[in-house]
Amino acid sequence: MNEKIEKLINDKGLRLDGRKPEELRPIKIEVGVLSNADGSAYIQQGKNKILAAVYGPKELHPKHLALPDRTVLRCRYHMAPFSVQERKSPAPSRREIELSKVIREALEPSLFLEYYPRTAIDIFIEVLQADGGTRCASITAASLALADAGIPMRDLVAACAAGKVDDTIVVDLMDAEDKKGTADVPVALMPNFNAITLLQMDGDLTMKEFEKAFNMALEGCRKIYTLQKEALKAKYLNVKEVEE
Ligand code: ADP
Repeated sequence: MNEKIEKLINDKGLRLDGRKPEELRPIKIEVGVLSNADGSAYIQQGKNKILAAVYGPKELHPKHLALPDRTVLRCRYHMAPFSVQERKSPAPSRREIELSKVIREALEPSLFLEYYPRTAIDIFIEVLQADGGTRCASITAASLALADAGIPMRDLVAACAAGKVDDTIVVDLMDAEDKKGTADVPVALMPNFNAITLLQMDGDLTMKEFEKAFNMALEGCRKIYTLQKEALKAKYLNVKEVEE
């Protein structure tokens, strides 16, 4: 099933990109990168490059979809045709439709949807370059774009995956590890509430391995949460400096 073309973990216990099993890829986050959207964020996580933009709360079209007691949260996850090595069709694939739903459901618990009846909040996610773990990086960026749009939130949502490659449990899998590894467990967390908003598992793990992977992913989420808060603060410090 999983052809081992090359070893994913070398004799020193390091991964293909030199990371230790518990090490995240380098992460760079920027908030407020698009002036035409109400809120936006950009994340680079390893080779992943992802933009998230938010519009709303705003009047919902078509109107018959509006709900009398809450806002409708809509999410579109899309991979650019140039985001992977072989041109991807720009039309939404089954995977993108599923990920749009999964990402929306991971973000929904962080919002007070009842504050804005009869409206919609739209989240657009564009994966410019993909290298594994894009659903998690998309959640991390989209949560910041929602905050940047000034939408009241219970907490930010930080997301990170862990999994198993060559019998080793590792965090933040890149594409090669995702494809050749045996399991992948993406997790999203509202750290202040210790509330999980996404938990999936692809592949096989024993209960013990699952617990280890799950805890590693949670630890990754907490580290990413710190970076999210720094990125959010950096934007508002910048605004303050411009105003002064
Ligand atoms: P995630 O990006 O959340 O890990 P998947 O496990 O479905 O989601 O995808 C893993 C990786 O596979 C993606 O991050 C991307 O690098 C790669 N991938 C996804 N779709 C395609 C595609 N159409 N062509 C080539 N690579 C793809």
